[in-house]
Amino acid sequence: MNCNPGIQRLKADSFYVLSACLKACPDTNRPVRILLTSLKMLEPSTPVQYVKGIGPRLAEVLAAKGIATVDDLLHYLPFRYEDRLNPRSVAELRAGEMATVIAEVRNSGLFRTRRMPIFQLTVGQGRTKLKCIWFNAAYLQDRFQAGQMLALYGKVEEDRDGQLQIMQPQFEILGDINEEGGADEAEKKAAASLEIGRIVPIYESTGQGKLTPRWFRRIIRWTLENLNPNLPDPIPAAVRVHLSLVSPREAWWKVHWPDAGESFSDLQSSRTAAHIRLIFDELFFIELGLELKRREQKAQTGITFRLDGGVREAIKKILPFHPTAAQKQVLKEIATDMQTPCPMRRLLQGDVGSGKTIVAFQAAIIAIENGYQVALMAPTEILAQQHYFSARQILERAGYRIVLLTGSLEQDRKRDVRRHIAQGNAQLVIGTHALIQDRVEFENLGLVVVDEQHRFGVMQRLKLMKKTEDARVVTGLRPVLPGEDARRSTDCEPDVLVMTATPIPRTLALTLYGDLDVSVLDELPPGRTPVVTRSVPDERAPEVWDFVRKQISAGHQAYVVYPVIEENEERELKAAQQMHRQLREKIFPNLHVGLLHGRLDGDEKERVMREFQQGKIEILVATTVIEVGVDVPNATVMVIEHADRFGLAQLHQLRGRIGRGAAKSYCVLMRGAKVSEEGERRLDAMVRSNDGFQIAELDLELRGPGEFFGTKQAGIPSFRVANIIRDRQLLEAAKREAAFVISGPNAEISKEEIDRALREMRSRWALSYGLVEVG
Ligand code: ADP
Ligand code: MG
Repeated sequence: MNCNPGIQRLKADSFYVLSACLKACPDTNRPVRILLTSLKMLEPSTPVQYVKGIGPRLAEVLAAKGIATVDDLLHYLPFRYEDRLNPRSVAELRAGEMATVIAEVRNSGLFRTRRMPIFQLTVGQGRTKLKCIWFNAAYLQDRFQAGQMLALYGKVEEDRDGQLQIMQPQFEILGDINEEGGADEAEKKAAASLEIGRIVPIYESTGQGKLTPRWFRRIIRWTLENLNPNLPDPIPAAVRVHLSLVSPREAWWKVHWPDAGESFSDLQSSRTAAHIRLIFDELFFIELGLELKRREQKAQTGITFRLDGGVREAIKKILPFHPTAAQKQVLKEIATDMQTPCPMRRLLQGDVGSGKTIVAFQAAIIAIENGYQVALMAPTEILAQQHYFSARQILERAGYRIVLLTGSLEQDRKRDVRRHIAQGNAQLVIGTHALIQDRVEFENLGLVVVDEQHRFGVMQRLKLMKKTEDARVVTGLRPVLPGEDARRSTDCEPDVLVMTATPIPRTLALTLYGDLDVSVLDELPPGRTPVVTRSVPDERAPEVWDFVRKQISAGHQAYVVYPVIEENEERELKAAQQMHRQLREKIFPNLHVGLLHGRLDGDEKERVMREFQQGKIEILVATTVIEVGVDVPNATVMVIEHADRFGLAQLHQLRGRIGRGAAKSYCVLMRGAKVSEEGERRLDAMVRSNDGFQIAELDLELRGPGEFFGTKQAGIPSFRVANIIRDRQLLEAAKREAAFVISGPNAEISKEEIDRALREMRSRWALSYGLVEVG
């Protein structure tokens, strides 16, 4: 490839290039060689101001976009491509499509309507003509001259007379050398040749429109031409072969400047060999980090729990029902982890109602029977209370000592409970995650169960894992002081089981929880009939209340859920209270209508929950505090007010509160007059599907990964080229290959290659993710 347009031109820049390379190569032992090579090449780590055409000021503009190095600049991928090699003829255009057209300016004019000025431009190809319209575009008035060639891109529509026009097209005046600034004639020509007769990359403009697609084309092209031609490839050769990966250099060239023969649809969907290389590259080093972390965890010393006949007997004894095959399988996976000497780090996924709690209790018994304490943490107080009820029913009867520790306990009581925990009297401690924050001291903690993990967020999980790993706080595993007895727990990590009811699509679990082992409860307990879900407009509320009344006279109970969105908590809480009053006084005067929301104090919450559980309260008006974990099988109806305002995952969680017994259950989604298009899609999905995995996938699509996981600000790895929804298969491949690399060296992969890959991984984790130190 023509590496360089000539040393002459480089001379003017040689100072920059040289200093860039000195910075990039800490190996200053051989300055002469650096000087010679540096005249020719940029390295990925070279700061962008050493790219020709980028001075300190533009470097600042780019820095604001996160572009600081050549590598960052190369990662600024075209967001689309224009086929200016085989442009469409106007005659081929169809209304409704997005199209690129190359045509000649004929005439233009500005029309002032009452509402806004409209700029209209007519372009032509031979005899065919096409109208282009821009609203509010007086600024375009003097932009065009007849005879100029334009590349236009936009939506084709039909006007009132059935003529085709393009609305608000993006455009480039081809060969508009004025934009090129001080370059000489030959260069202007060369630059112009980049714009036509090929597939042209279109970059998002930035810097308030100052850095145009055309500017990026020129700059990135120059960067590529001056890039070190022998870029090392940090991905081991065997992996490259497994996936037929092209070299980094080829990937960079072709992603920015695709070959003429490249499939256009592959380009637009990021499926060219060049795209795949770059996407895989990004995913591979993330997975490599997670894989290594996982190995390291495995290498730590944990507790080796015994699982003899006595323990097995104890586990069986508590079971109030026959476990499902899935529950048995998952318990086996957990028990196996617990019996091995390295600490368990396992994620248990299971749709709402799949029966995670009992599995957690069984795991707890293994730990307790081995003489250890267990902490079970829930994201809300109500859920903690709920678990406490069930634990007492199921475990206390078998003689285990259980305590509840929540923020709303009275000080004295709290102190008592803490003492029980510290002395090791309490065998199972149930609480909110304040358990960690409050530095509760355990005498001998062996197992931590975190329920409904999605509510904690990914960052919290990492912190939590870190804390249990550091473990000095939560577990009371103090370093042994001189003269002190080494307790048996002192040198061991507790096991950790994380349970989530948001069924994360498996591939995503691999990225986000790649450091955990995953178990899945993919079966509901027998005898459940799927919940019937309907979406109903508000006007039909009277019918809905009639239906509720019927269900209650048949001996069942109902929830009425009212959304309280945090930002307007105060106001909406009032609305929920009002609703409660109206239902109690006007609509169901003869029934017991209770109210449950997050602001009630602990005792009150407990009382309401208890009365609902015992059937004394027939209708429970609640905010989303009941979203997780609440378990009252006799409740068969749930009416969700303003259902369109809830997220999909949340609706599914809410609905999971019913359909827990044998009787048929009904979920009614009430909606107001105006529902957004996305709201409609959510309601529609709920009506159609009861499958948490399906719903989670759709939710993910609708909201995007950032919001889905609630991690927008939480610093989850944000991807530069990969899109974990689109690129699932590559993600799986990256995971597989990362495991393969770490299991080396072997015949396929050398130690040097592995070390190189690990070095690259560490520098990337440090730079981009900065959240977990690895290795
Ligand atoms: P989740 O996975 O949503 O936490 P729970 O553990 O609360 O689900 O279980 C939901 C309901 O199913 C509870 O009432 C529980 O007692 C019941 N359950 C769990 N496992 C079984 C089983 N194997 N057979 C019958 N009922 C079960
Ligand atoms: Mg649960």
